[in-house]
Amino acid sequence: MATDPVTYGCALDALTASLNVPVTFGVGLPLERSRVGRLLRTYLLWIEQGFHAQPLVQALARGELHPPAVGGDQPSGAQVARMLRDLRIGWGRSRYAAALDGLPERGRQEEQSRARHEGPESSDAERARRIAGREQARRSLEILLKELLASMPTSIGGQGDESKQTAVSAAEIAGGAARFLELFKPRPGTEEEEALRRVNERLLRVQAACGRRTALSAAIAELRARLRLRVPRVGTLGPLPWTSAAGALHLTDIEHGGRSGRPCTFVVGLDADRVTAGSRQDPILPDSDREGIHASPDALLAGALLPTRPDRLMAKRYELAAMLASLRGEVTLSYAAWDSATGSLLAPDPVLLQALRVRDRDDRRSFDDLQLALGAPVSPVPSHQGAIDAADVWMGTISRGSTLLGGVDLVRKSFAGLAAGLRAREARMGSALTSFHGHLPAAGVLTGAGRERPFSPSELQKLAACPLSWFYKYALRVRKLEDPEYVAGQWLTPLERGEILHSVFEGFGVECRDGGIDVASLEADEILERVVQHELAGARARVPPPSPIAMESEAEEVRDAARVFLTMERENREGSWQWFELPFGREGSPPAMIRLPSGRVVPFRGQVDRVDRLPDGRLRVIDYKTGKVFENEWDAPFGGGRQIQPGIYARAVEGVLGREVASFEYRFPSGRGLGVIQTHRTDELEATLAIAEDLLGLIEAGVFVATDEAADCTWCDFRPICRVQTKGWDTTSPRAAWSREHRTLPEYSTLVRLRAKT
Ligand code: SF4
Repeated sequence: MATDPVTYGCALDALTASLNVPVTFGVGLPLERSRVGRLLRTYLLWIEQGFHAQPLVQALARGELHPPAVGGDQPSGAQVARMLRDLRIGWGRSRYAAALDGLPERGRQEEQSRARHEGPESSDAERARRIAGREQARRSLEILLKELLASMPTSIGGQGDESKQTAVSAAEIAGGAARFLELFKPRPGTEEEEALRRVNERLLRVQAACGRRTALSAAIAELRARLRLRVPRVGTLGPLPWTSAAGALHLTDIEHGGRSGRPCTFVVGLDADRVTAGSRQDPILPDSDREGIHASPDALLAGALLPTRPDRLMAKRYELAAMLASLRGEVTLSYAAWDSATGSLLAPDPVLLQALRVRDRDDRRSFDDLQLALGAPVSPVPSHQGAIDAADVWMGTISRGSTLLGGVDLVRKSFAGLAAGLRAREARMGSALTSFHGHLPAAGVLTGAGRERPFSPSELQKLAACPLSWFYKYALRVRKLEDPEYVAGQWLTPLERGEILHSVFEGFGVECRDGGIDVASLEADEILERVVQHELAGARARVPPPSPIAMESEAEEVRDAARVFLTMERENREGSWQWFELPFGREGSPPAMIRLPSGRVVPFRGQVDRVDRLPDGRLRVIDYKTGKVFENEWDAPFGGGRQIQPGIYARAVEGVLGREVASFEYRFPSGRGLGVIQTHRTDELEATLAIAEDLLGLIEAGVFVATDEAADCTWCDFRPICRVQTKGWDTTSPRAAWSREHRTLPEYSTLVRLRAKT
C-alpha cells in the first residue's frame, strides 16, 4: 500500500521489471509509463511549444515514435531524427511546409557534398545503398510530417503564425491526437493495445463533450486533465489487469487497500508530508470564506458542504485508520526518512507513533521512543549478505556495515571506459604535458599544411586564440548542436541579421555599379529601400517572425543599418566599386596561393565582401562588420594572431586579381557599429604573414594546447567540454588555468611569443 501510488508505483515498476518479478497494480500506472502515453505527451508538447521540432526529434531518437515504413521497410528512428534535426525547422507550422518542399533538393546537395569528400575506397554499390537508405528515410520523414500537419486543426498556427491567436477547443486537439495515434502500432497481444484502447476511448469522450473554444494553452490544460488515466503495467494482460493476482506482488493506494486479504502487507510513504498531502488550504476559497458560507442561512437550506482543511485532514486520517484496521497478518509500516532532492530529513507521520502505542499497549510512548524502536534507517547499502541485483552487489562490496568505502580501484578494474576517463583526468591535472593537454605530434602530420583543403583566415585566427579549439573544430570536426529556438520578441539571430545586411549591401552595390547610379542621388535611396524590402521578404519566408512587433522592430534595425551604410558611402566616395562577394578557394574558384616569409606557398580560401578601385589604380579591400566595433583587447600586435584576416585578404586579392592592394578596411555600417571605418595600410600588414607561418608551425608540430587566457573561452563553442564556468563577467577555465601555470614549457613558446607586447 502506498500513500503516493504514482511515485512508488513507478519505482516498483522499474525495479521489479529489471528483476523479472511479477506485480499487479491495483490503481494502474500513470499513462506516461506506457509508450502510447509518452507519444501523447510528445504530441501535446509539440503543439504547446509552437510546433517546435525538438519533441519530435527526441521521440524518434528514443524509439517512442516509429517512422512510417516505406515499401515495406522501416528506416531507423535515429536516422529520421537526424534528418529532421538537420532541417533546422525550429518552430512554426508554416516552416514545416517550406522544409518539406526543400527536402529533395537538400538530399541531392548532401549527396554531392559527400561524394566530394569521400575517398575512392567507397564503392559504387556502397554509395547506391547509402543513397537508397537516405531516400527511404526522407520519404518516411515526409509521410510523418504530412500526417502530423494534417492531424492538427487548421485553427492552430503556432508561434510565429498569425493564426496563433485563434481560439481552439480541447475537442479539436483531442481529434488531432486521435489521428496522430493512428501512426502508433501497438505490439499485438501486449498491454499496449489496452492502453491505446483506453486513451482512444477518452479522446472520443473529450471530442464529444469539450467543444468550448478557448486559448490554446487552456485547451491543452483541459485535455491533459482529462487524460489523467491509469494504464496496465507492461506485460500485464487480461480484461482486469488491476486485480490482485496470486504469485505476484500487489500495489495499491490507501483508498483501495486492505481488500486483497494478503498475509503480509507493507505500507510505504508514511512520512508526515505524504500522508497529509493535498490537504492544504484552498487559495481560491480559503477556510474562513468556507466557514462564512456554511454559517449563512441559504447554505443551511441548500445543505451546502464545503470541507475546510481540518475536515479534509480528518477524512484522510480516517481513511488511513480504516484501511489499517482492515489489514490481517503481518503488517510493516515505513516512511521515507530522507528527501534526496532537497537533502533534508523527513519526519514520520503521527500514525506511526500511534501504531507503536497500540503495539506496545502503552499510550505514553513519544516520538523519541519511536526513533529508538525504529533504529537506524535502511538505505540502498545492504545491511546483510544476500544481494538482489547488481547495485546490491556493488554496494555490498564497497561498504563496511552501512558505511561506503572508497571503491575507485575496484571500479577501475571492472570498467575499462571509466578507468580510461580517470587516467585522462589525472594526466590533465598533472604537471607533464601529454596528449590529454593537446600535445599530439602524430596528428600534426595529418592536419598540417600538406593537406589538400585550403586554410581560411578565420581558421587561423581560431588557432591563434586557442589551438585546442582549432583541433576540436577543424581536426575532429566537433560541431555544437544548434537548434533554432523560439524567443518571444526576437525574430532574427545576429547571424541571420548579418546575412541579410550583407545581401542588402551586395544587392544595392551591384545595382548601382551596373546601372551607373550615383550614391548621392535620390534614386540610390529608392534602390536601397527596394533591396531592403526584398531581403526582408525573403527572411520572412525562411524564418516566420514570432510576432508583428518583433518583426517590425528587427526590420527597423535592418533599415537603420542600411541608412548608416548609405551615409557612409556618400561620405567616402573615393574610388569605384568593382567586385562584390569575391570568392577564392570556394564555390569552384581556385584558392589564393600565398607565399609566406620562408618562401613556402600555402593555399587559402575565403570570400571578400567588396573590392574598390582607387583613383591611382590600386585596390581597396573592404569587409563589413554588422555588430559593434571591436576594440583591440590584446596588447600583442594583431591580437597575437587573432586578427590576421586583413593581411591575408589583402595578399589573397592581389594574387587573385593581379593588382596591388593599397589598404584593407573594416566597415561597421549599422546602428551599433556607428559607421566606424578601421583602415589598415598594406605595408603595415606584412607581419601577419609571418604570424600565419608561426601558426601553421603549431599545427605541423601537433601542438594543440589550450589558450592561457580564460577570456578566449568566453564565447567558445567547446565550453562544456572544457568545463568552463561563467559568473557575471568572470570566466573560469580549468584548461586555460593549466596553460597559464605551465606556459614556460617549450611547447608554449610560439604562443607566448605571439602574445607578447611588440
Ligand atoms: S573552452 Fe577555452 S580552452 Fe576549451 S577549447 Fe574553447 S577556448 Fe580552448
